[in-house]
Amino acid sequence: MILYDVLHNVTLLMSGFYLLGKLSPHPITVDSKRSVRILYGISLSVLSLLLMQLTIEPVPGVLVDLRHIPVIVAAYFAGPLPTVIVTAVIVLYRFSISTNAAAYAATLFIILVAGGTSLLVNWFPIYSKRTFTLVTIYATVLHGAVLTYVLAATGLMTTILSVVLPASFVSSWLALVIIRDIRLTKQSMRTLQQTAQRDFLTGLHNFRAFTDHFDDLKQQTILHQHEIALITIDIDHFKQVNDTYGHEAGDEVLRQFAARLRDGVTDAGYVSRNGGEEFSILVEQLTIAKVVALAEQLRERIATSPFQLSTGVFLPLTASFGVASFPKTTTEIQHLVTDADAALYHSKQNGRNQVTLFSIEQEVATTHHSD
Ligand code: GH3
Ligand code: MG
Ligand code: MG
Repeated sequence: MILYDVLHNVTLLMSGFYLLGKLSPHPITVDSKRSVRILYGISLSVLSLLLMQLTIEPVPGVLVDLRHIPVIVAAYFAGPLPTVIVTAVIVLYRFSISTNAAAYAATLFIILVAGGTSLLVNWFPIYSKRTFTLVTIYATVLHGAVLTYVLAATGLMTTILSVVLPASFVSSWLALVIIRDIRLTKQSMRTLQQTAQRDFLTGLHNFRAFTDHFDDLKQQTILHQHEIALITIDIDHFKQVNDTYGHEAGDEVLRQFAARLRDGVTDAGYVSRNGGEEFSILVEQLTIAKVVALAEQLRERIATSPFQLSTGVFLPLTASFGVASFPKTTTEIQHLVTDADAALYHSKQNGRNQVTLFSIEQEVATTHHSD
């Protein structure tokens, strides 16, 4: 019977931690937002209260369960605030059931578990199995001591200890491992997502990120009647850099070019490398005049100071720019990219190293060209 009750506790704990880990979008740590840590404290308190519904009462007034494990988890992963919440909830609920020596012993036990775990995790590396073991041994020894104290006068001590202590040990250890694994999986997923959105050579957003971001913006722009502009950029005669100085030098130039764009745009726009030596900047909520001025500044930033290769060679370079803006120059948001490209094509045709704002004539010119 006791074994079944304890197994219920263990099962509830494991599913509770799994669910909590899966539900929280980010791992909850001492540095999480206060409201998030409070919510975590409340969730762990609910879990503890549920465990106390599955409590074993070997003798009247003595309640044996695994309520302290959520306290370990709070103290181990999420810092003092949720730990205090879950500890307080457990203590208050315990005294609401009965005020006796066992309740005082249980309170002391919970506080020592909370305090000791907080100290241990401060001293040892958080994700190491050695720290798990230390914390688990510490809590299990305390659990053993408090059970011995409250059950000493009964004949049940050995039976209870032999079932509850192994369960206490295994649950505490498993809880820490499960939570750590969910956290590490989430972290690597995030890193993967981030790298999948970055251009490997320049660190700018890549074409995939550009497409995703542009799709989101399209919806918001139409919904809120915002303005949105696109600047497309293509380095002039870039092939000559590769041909003259080699592909490596070309890569170096691309990296420096990207840095100049990033520094020039700061957070005024979303800068991407859309392929080869072609870049783009998505700009929201700026007047056309300001967008053209930004493109002009960038053009100057590139044309006025030469790029320097690691070999010491100075390379003067220019780039051509095209600008299209919804809804001013481009009434259909889907045409923003083709219109900005048409304007860029015009810059190239007109002698390069310049900024062109899209107009209908360029659309006609581009169409004729591709015919
Ligand atoms: P234009 O002024 O008409 O744009 O001339 P261009 O030479 O810049 O244009 P073109 O499209 O003929 O050549 C682009 C070159 O960019 C060709 C390709 O080898 C080079 N390129 C594309 N991606 C990379 C890259 O990742 N690294 C290097 N080093 N070169 C690249
Ligand atoms: Mg090109
Ligand atoms: Mg080019």
